[in-house]
Amino acid sequence: MTNSDPSPDEAPLGNATADAIAVGGGLAGSAFALELARHGASVMIFERMGGPHHKVCGEFLSDGAQALLSYVGIDVHALGGSSIDTLCLANGSKQAHARLPFKAVAVSRFLLDEAVAKAAEHAGAKIFRATSVEGIEHSGDCVRVRTARATFECRAAALASGKHNIRGLPRPDGPMVGFKIHVRPTQAARAALIGIVHLIAFAGGYLGLCMVDDQTLSIAWNINSDVLRFIGTSWAAQSAYVAMQSRMFADFISGATPVWEKPLAVAGLPYGFMRSATISPAIYPVGDQLAVIPSFAGDGTALALASGIAAAQAVLKCESAPDFQARMLANFKPQFTRAAALDRVIAGALLRRVGIAGARLFPGMVTMLVSGTRLRGLDGLTASPDARN
Ligand SMILES: Cc1cc2nc3c(=O)[nH]c(=O)nc-3n(C[C@H](O)[C@H](O)[C@H](O)COP(=O)(O)OP(=O)(O)OC[C@H]3O[C@@H](n4cnc5c(N)ncnc54)[C@H](O)[C@@H]3O)c2cc1C
Repeated sequence: MTNSDPSPDEAPLGNATADAIAVGGGLAGSAFALELARHGASVMIFERMGGPHHKVCGEFLSDGAQALLSYVGIDVHALGGSSIDTLCLANGSKQAHARLPFKAVAVSRFLLDEAVAKAAEHAGAKIFRATSVEGIEHSGDCVRVRTARATFECRAAALASGKHNIRGLPRPDGPMVGFKIHVRPTQAARAALIGIVHLIAFAGGYLGLCMVDDQTLSIAWNINSDVLRFIGTSWAAQSAYVAMQSRMFADFISGATPVWEKPLAVAGLPYGFMRSATISPAIYPVGDQLAVIPSFAGDGTALALASGIAAAQAVLKCESAPDFQARMLANFKPQFTRAAALDRVIAGALLRRVGIAGARLFPGMVTMLVSGTRLRGLDGLTASPDARN
């Protein structure tokens, strides 16, 4: 919110109306608002956090995510992103390297989400920060978005609250807890990390790591809540647990300085969730509120951007939210099915061993599998309006 903006919580009921409201100012919500604002609609974004913030995310951007970011006007390299062309899979002492089928980039979500939010603001959307949405209801032609002190009206809303659920609109709870931390590795470790995204399996979960700029290593991991209860939630305890199982990980973090003390955490991750139940004709679930692809696929950001843009385009062409949802989920289904199969490989100790042995023998197969978990059909979103119709 700029200094001159009134606080939305102080706006009188009925005065604050807009064509559309994004509930959540992450990638999905901002992309939704930006696409609508670009087409002349009045849009408000309500974001519960007061300013830029870190997210539990591996910060790996696929080619699909990069293309969508370029469409919304973001140059990820200008944000200091670091290029990645190789995937390293590791299990115990065994590793397999494979070329990625595209040039990936890793960039801090602290910078990225703020850049997309600013782009939305630049296009004309109004962002209200430190504004938590408590409920969304639809009756007649009007969607009502409720915060602690006021209610706002619009024609259409995007449910874009990501990993946090809005009351009355639950998602199922999964057993995995997600964590993320930034550390500054030693120079020797940095040399071994440049250009590579590492996926390291351990008993009860897996961890992804990549450099997000010249100095900073982003580490994000998923761990089963039962295992977590046993080892504890601190960075010291969890990093020691993984280091015990992976010498490579131990070497990467040896002498590294954590950028913040406690890892960020989010519990109950519903991997594989697809919201098929509709909410209302004018409430469009987007990003993690629409579908949650297993994080090792590294395509959650692409899904968030794609669904945000697609929901805005649906609003513009008067496609109802249920039709939008059905179309998007049908599109995502093949990738989700493949990702779920790979998730089972990662979860099973024996399957993991066989998988790594296969990957060492046939690195080309890994490249193919990475292609197989990419979201499809994103090109149509970024085509010119004429080409879309
Ligand atoms: C461990 C892990 C690793 C991952 N690694 C990767 C990766 O490497 N690459 C990749 O592409 N994807 C990855 N993902 C997935 C990716 O992080 C998500 O899919 C993506 O962030 C979803 O974007 P979103 O906009 O839907 O939600 P979010 O990014 O969560 O944004 C939602 C926003 O809504 C706000 N909000 C929440 N509740 C309210 C409320 N009540 N009122 C107002 N605002 C609210 C939040 O503050 C937040 O800013 C990973 C996920 C996990 C858990």
